[in-house]
Amino acid sequence: MPATPAPTLPPVRAVYSTPLRARFRDLAARDGVLVRGEAGWGEISPFWDYDARESAAWLRAGLEAAEEGWPAPVRARIPVNVTVPAVGPEQAARIVAASGGCTTAKVKVAETGQSLAEEQARLEAVRGALGAGGRIRIDANGGWDLDTAVDRLRHLERAAGGLEYAEQPCATVEELAALRRRTDVPVAADESIRRAEDPLAVRRAEAADVVVLKVQPLGGVRACLDLAEEVGLPVVVSSALESSVGIAAGLALAAALPALPYACGLATVHLLERDTVEDPLLPVGGSIAVRRPEPSERSLDAVRADDEVRVRWESRLAEIMAVAGAPR
Ligand SMILES: [Mg+2]
Repeated sequence: MPATPAPTLPPVRAVYSTPLRARFRDLAARDGVLVRGEAGWGEISPFWDYDARESAAWLRAGLEAAEEGWPAPVRARIPVNVTVPAVGPEQAARIVAASGGCTTAKVKVAETGQSLAEEQARLEAVRGALGAGGRIRIDANGGWDLDTAVDRLRHLERAAGGLEYAEQPCATVEELAALRRRTDVPVAADESIRRAEDPLAVRRAEAADVVVLKVQPLGGVRACLDLAEEVGLPVVVSSALESSVGIAAGLALAAALPALPYACGLATVHLLERDTVEDPLLPVGGSIAVRRPEPSERSLDAVRADDEVRVRWESRLAEIMAVAGAPR
């Protein structure tokens, strides 16, 4: 087999940085690199806890966006969910009400230090805000062991008045597979796909009913389309908390999938205090139009990182490039 040619980077047009409106995954700010090639703008923004080897997939996704573009869409709008963090019931209801018409909510559970009663109150509040016709899914980020998951799902399903699915209730593929035999709540795999050496292990073990795919960590829109076909399960496209330049790639994936039975987790731009474009990819009537907004000089000026962050990204990018060019 010929060696994979080392990637070359189109000129870096901007390093962006923006505070988050609320802390998310221990993050207070989001930052990344924007590149521009023949096909348009691409975002390369691995979280700082990803090493150079893991970040190579994020680089490939950004280069695909900038140099190749994406397959043709088969739908024009993508239904999206509102995300409710581990907040109190009043705030949870407010977040749903301010979501831009979303009828599906993803509610964070299994937060360290929180009780079952707090989770139940949050889910009851979300159900109240969504109404009987809304859909509720929960995300435990792998926080439960098997027995806890069985028990919690029973209680939380009742509090929510039905659950669409539980995302990554346990950490391992083996636990997810065992859990599926002990609960009626459908199971979605997120971390088991995104940070796994072998994303197809989920299919072999029959460990999930749904898979969550994220464009950057999985190496681009085409890589995700291929993976979706191999896994053969319904796909929910989610963001990695990108600016609108990165979200556009998620929309392109959601728009190109042959089937899209669930709302996607792409309504996250409002979590950023500033965006890289002037017309952000936000939901209207519970869905986001499939389009690709372009940064302008003015929008880039508003998010430009300071010298310290810029220098950090330049050396990080060089490291990722070195790994990405090496034989795998
Ligand atoms: Mg998740």
